[in-house]
Amino acid sequence: MRVRFAPSPTGYLHIGNARTALFNYLLARKDKGSFVLRIEDTDTERSKPEYEKIILEDLAWLGLDWDEGPDVGGPFGPYRQSERLERYQESAQRLLKEEKAYLCYCAPEELEAMRQAQMQRKESPRYDNRCRSLTSEQRAAFEKEGRKPVVRFRLPERKVTFNDLIRGDITFDTALMGDLIIMKSDGKAAFHFAVVLDDIAMEITHVFRGEDHISNTPRHILLFEAFGKRPPFFAHMAMTLGPDGSRLSKRHGATSLRELRSQGFLPEAIFNYLALLGWGTTEDKEIFTPAELIQEFSLERCKEGAAIFDMAKLTWMNGLYFQKADLSRLVDLSLPFLQEAGLVSETVLPKEREYLARVITVLGERVKKFSDLPGAAGIFLKDEIEYDAQAKAKILQKEGVGKILTDLNQLLANEADFSTANLEKVIRDYCVNQNLKTSAVFHPLRVAVTGQTVGPGLFETLSLIGKEKTLHRLQTMNQTIKM
Ligand code: GLU
Repeated sequence: MRVRFAPSPTGYLHIGNARTALFNYLLARKDKGSFVLRIEDTDTERSKPEYEKIILEDLAWLGLDWDEGPDVGGPFGPYRQSERLERYQESAQRLLKEEKAYLCYCAPEELEAMRQAQMQRKESPRYDNRCRSLTSEQRAAFEKEGRKPVVRFRLPERKVTFNDLIRGDITFDTALMGDLIIMKSDGKAAFHFAVVLDDIAMEITHVFRGEDHISNTPRHILLFEAFGKRPPFFAHMAMTLGPDGSRLSKRHGATSLRELRSQGFLPEAIFNYLALLGWGTTEDKEIFTPAELIQEFSLERCKEGAAIFDMAKLTWMNGLYFQKADLSRLVDLSLPFLQEAGLVSETVLPKEREYLARVITVLGERVKKFSDLPGAAGIFLKDEIEYDAQAKAKILQKEGVGKILTDLNQLLANEADFSTANLEKVIRDYCVNQNLKTSAVFHPLRVAVTGQTVGPGLFETLSLIGKEKTLHRLQTMNQTIKM
């Protein structure tokens, strides 16, 4: 099996395309085949080298590797369509010579007029193949006018059926299609031509791509046949939509892999989650290692219906991977997020890394992705915290709070041992001695020291915040009460 992922470098890698890449990768690895990465940059206006770089980076970040591609080379290169122009031109010449293709001189205005007329007649618009049988005099006259021809592929009139490995037999009738442009008037290959020629040259055996290419497939098949080649197997993956059934857009949380990356998702969680979009095992199992996915992935279980990308589900899954991830890696990956929020300086000392590791551990499941971290870790990393106004107002109303917080300040000032266990003992003893309900003490203490009513375990939190900051915050609160 030789498969390819063929992105056009006209933007960031869309989540749906990342999933197509992943499916190709899984199938190639399962079959011990080759996974080829090909850059489809025939659209020179919209294609940008920066995007190619980002796409490659993001695919590698996701955990994919490829056997052949523009960066790693391979026996069927070059792997960028912009570097294969001569091959396309030669092949176009061949089709022209064999009269499987012809020069078409129609100007854009003429094509537009044709389209309008067809629509008026309630016909579906298509090229009417009027240049198929130009005489050499007619051609010469057009040339004399300075018209630059395109090359069109003469579609044989017949029905084309192919067996889509996900959808079964699909039939199209070419009588409803106009002849296809294969070379543009600027001498560059049109998208469809480049795709087919590369799939032939790169000996691709299976084409797994998005469902938006289904209607291109009959034309592609006819091109394979025009070169005397057997077409590859095709499978078209369902579109990836948002939970409301519409095209993925910003309002669904993200549209590209890069955005997910910058929102602090882990690549292994995305790898797992994307594999489940439109695919699943018969059991309810949802968490898979890459090795398990390679083993279990199969086209038979790919669904025809649209795949729903649900940010909430991905976030949940990311939380699970976050809990499993190596702590020192989490610290490394958290730094840019904390630095951006101004919570950590550019150079991080070993002692600070250790502290961050403890913060991440104490926050536990409260953090599901890195972008949650600055908000959740602020109570540990900031000198001055912000108080939740409602929470503060509520504790200040309670009688005796001023005394409790003053007592606690004194009590804790005398404690050298700020371990979780000792803090718990000292503060619980205080409640018993003063005959106070624990909630009457714990609650104001938490608000005074963290600014919030909820958070990780109180004693762990105090222990991690440390003596100095804890006392400072208690004193600040006490001053507010006295005022
Ligand atoms: N370059 C095409 C795209 O990005 C893929 C074409 C194909 O897979 O055949 O949609």
